[in-house]
Amino acid sequence: KKVLIVGGVAGGASTATRLRRLEENLEIIIFEKGEYVSFANCGLPYHIGEVIENRESLLVQTPESLKARFNLDVRVNSEVIGVNGEDKKVKVKTKNGEEYEENFDFLVLSPGAKPLFPPIKGIESERIFTLRNINDMDKIKAKIKNSNIKKATVVGGGYVGIETAENLKYLGIDTTLVEAAPHILAPFDSEISNVLEFELISNGINLLTSEKVIEFQENGNEINIKLESGKTVTTDIVILSIGVSPDTKFLQNSGITLGERGHILVNENLETNLKGVYALGDSILVKNYLTNQNVAIPLAGPANRQGRIVAGNIVGRNEKYKGSLGTAIIKIFELTAASTGFNERTLKQLNMSYEKIYLHPNNHAAYYPGASPISIKALYNKENKQILGAQALGISGVDKFIDVIATSINFKATIDDLSELELAYAPPFLSAKSPANMLGFIGQ
Ligand code: FAD
Repeated sequence: KKVLIVGGVAGGASTATRLRRLEENLEIIIFEKGEYVSFANCGLPYHIGEVIENRESLLVQTPESLKARFNLDVRVNSEVIGVNGEDKKVKVKTKNGEEYEENFDFLVLSPGAKPLFPPIKGIESERIFTLRNINDMDKIKAKIKNSNIKKATVVGGGYVGIETAENLKYLGIDTTLVEAAPHILAPFDSEISNVLEFELISNGINLLTSEKVIEFQENGNEINIKLESGKTVTTDIVILSIGVSPDTKFLQNSGITLGERGHILVNENLETNLKGVYALGDSILVKNYLTNQNVAIPLAGPANRQGRIVAGNIVGRNEKYKGSLGTAIIKIFELTAASTGFNERTLKQLNMSYEKIYLHPNNHAAYYPGASPISIKALYNKENKQILGAQALGISGVDKFIDVIATSINFKATIDDLSELELAYAPPFLSAKSPANMLGFIGQ
């Protein structure tokens, strides 16, 4: 049997390697339109800032290593330009313009999502960059180096935008961050994002919120960014980071059902409406783990876990994806901020009845040197007390806390259940009553 995989990074590569571990005899071909496979997308901003010094360390696998270790036929610079679901064939276009067809028994679609490029006047300027892959990163680095860039502006205050802004600042570049919404980082409620904004500003980022870009104007070696408020930001380069949309244009006449914004629709086995055609990662809509509604959650953890499930289903294991919570974390200079599940804004929109708890415990025993507070907001269902979400920020211990809550939500815990958790404690690591226990005590 022959399995074709479209996209050779997070979801595609994990499907392929899992598939090979499960089944020796399958023919597995990966098509990747870019030059690299299995690279660390999440590390890209940190190489721009030289925090990750070695570029090669971002290249987790190569076509050669995947061939040698997993017997995978990896074809880079090979774009799948069409899928014929009825005849079970894909059409591939290589970098030098050749086209050919390949037939399949199973097809796996993991084409990911591409940066949004809105129709703003002047958007085609060569001073505007986006960051999705190794080539994008190389271009940004080369521009910074070769053109002696002194001023940069990031448009979009989501995870990638903020990580990029921080890393540009590490290079000594005068960095502006423009966000159209009143606050950065939509997964957080405003009382949390306020603190994160303060962290950006106190580290020298020129932060402009509630400011919408309406035009880019080239101006010699600079570019003027016109804002709706009438202000203008003058900068050397722009990194546009206002979100992503599924990279699924090639599926338009395939017979595969797509959602309104182009996401691939799948069932709980991650199978599309065509039998034997699976999809995963940033290109699909998943179920929200708590409400079962369709949502787009473009994160690496879900993509990797979905890869295992797709591989399992191809070999007949009937594995199900139960949904995503959107658990995410970010470092902003000295701070860590993380969230899981719903925030209050979304609960209000969904008209759900909830209670909230604010808490500011220390990350570990106060008497042990180096203790620092974690600011926590937790939300739970007013009626059945099921935990619905949490947000936290602090210098240390935020990752551990949010993972405990994400795990608890995963097992459908109530706020009371948190009082029973027995977590690893010694003074350098936690308090005898952990932040999660404290939430339980308050909620009881
Ligand atoms: P991708 O990993 O993007 O892979 C899709 C691949 O398919 C691409 O290489 C593309 O070239 C290829 N492709 C598309 N169409 C075709 C076609 N027609 N033919 C052939 N090939 C095609 N997530 C986190 O959870 N934490 C993080 O810290 C984090 N940081 C990030 C930082 C950056 C800068 C970026 C860009 C993303 C980050 N993400 C992070 C998101 C994470 O990388 C994605 O959720 C994940 O890679 C999705 O996997 P995927 O397989 O769906 O798509």
